Amino acid sequence: MLADKEILLPLIEEAAAKAVEIRRDLHMHPELSGQEIRTSGIIAAALKELGIETREGLGKPVLPDPEYIKAVLTSSIAKDMLKDMGMGEEVLGGIDLSGLDIGSMDPATIAAMASMIMPPGHGVLGTIYGEDPTRAIAIRADIDALPVTEETDTPFKSQNPGVMHACGHDMHTAALLGTAMVLKKYADRGGRLPRSVKFIFQPNEEGTGGAAPMIAEGVMQDPAVESIFAFHVDPSKEYGKIRFFPGVMNASCTDFKITVHGKASHGAHPNLGIDPIPCACDIVLALQTIITRKLDPACGAVLTVGAIRGGSTTNQVPEQCEMVGTIRTLDNESLRIIEDEMRRLVSSVAEGYGCTAETVIGELYPVLFNDPEVSEVIRTVAEDLVGPESIVNDNAPSFSSDDFAYFTSAVKGCYFHVGSTRPGSEEIHDIHSNLFDPDERLIRLAIAMEVFSCLRLMGA
Ligand SMILES: [Zn+2]
Repeated sequence: MLADKEILLPLIEEAAAKAVEIRRDLHMHPELSGQEIRTSGIIAAALKELGIETREGLGKPVLPDPEYIKAVLTSSIAKDMLKDMGMGEEVLGGIDLSGLDIGSMDPATIAAMASMIMPPGHGVLGTIYGEDPTRAIAIRADIDALPVTEETDTPFKSQNPGVMHACGHDMHTAALLGTAMVLKKYADRGGRLPRSVKFIFQPNEEGTGGAAPMIAEGVMQDPAVESIFAFHVDPSKEYGKIRFFPGVMNASCTDFKITVHGKASHGAHPNLGIDPIPCACDIVLALQTIITRKLDPACGAVLTVGAIRGGSTTNQVPEQCEMVGTIRTLDNESLRIIEDEMRRLVSSVAEGYGCTAETVIGELYPVLFNDPEVSEVIRTVAEDLVGPESIVNDNAPSFSSDDFAYFTSAVKGCYFHVGSTRPGSEEIHDIHSNLFDPDERLIRLAIAMEVFSCLRLMGA
């Protein structure tokens, strides 16, 4: 039974109409990770207008591992990638790095410098105090867009060239604002909120991560969050379907950088140098044996070298070759094994070639674990809203990742997918596609899911 259905359903209807308008506005004005200034202003204004206590400027990016920061700042591949993502200037604070010899600076200085030049956070927290002002249920939405040029023909197409809400975070944000509208009005009209509710609008999900900084800034305290949930649009499912399951929902995400050092020489006299390129090629191939030979086959993991760069011309043996990549695992033990084996294998292959090599590993997002108890509550709500036949439990964890995992590592939580493809569509456009165009009706369903899940989790 859905709590106070007669009061809440009309409120959801009203909020959904407003949320669709907000979504279209956000969609027209997407902002990249770490630059969500306008978006954050709209969220804060909407919460304040509702009379909800609002905290702004949260989620200032932190790169906690100095070795990793140094690896990023000294990596030409990583710098280019950041630039391509539109993050170069922001992440590096517009500072011209060409005059700085980062390679010889100590990691602690680099970390201090990086933290000073990091942009402020654009996260927003809204809190409604319930009967128990010390305990809360939290709902999270990510708010950032992607460096993608929109190719859809919607009338509210992105006005910001090269930037698009291609991952549906505009839907997440609009739906959570809709949920805030419903719960605030419900409380104002005497509806029971046995616990407080926190609305976490998190920046930088597609960038360096906004969840961990927001947790460090105290969003899970005062009132203390007991459980948390979030949804993500899912174009692999039609509108009306809800997909999730207890246990591991998304893989961990860990980036690495390997640098192989050799000795430069003329390309015609390789015997006078030590060529790092064949060594690097061997390392790329050998790395896959960690997955196939060292891990329990039942565990499942992915290791991808995404970029490799060495040398700059036809007739020189270069001094070094660099590669960067990503590791995805469904459990922490597999990640430990891969990291250990990777360091060991890289240095021994390099030694075999007479090279030296260094491996820097930077853990980004942990495994996203759906708590069975919270998932069960979400399941009962989904069953009431869409019926058991529309709940997809395929128990197939995704190897993509989401930093919502930091929240589910801190307290029990659940992350569910809401189908976003229009029923009967001939072609499916995946998230991050320039043609991604979700069915807007899911906003109403997502608000209903959030409102009733929140109330049920607090025992209303
Ligand atoms: Zn996303």
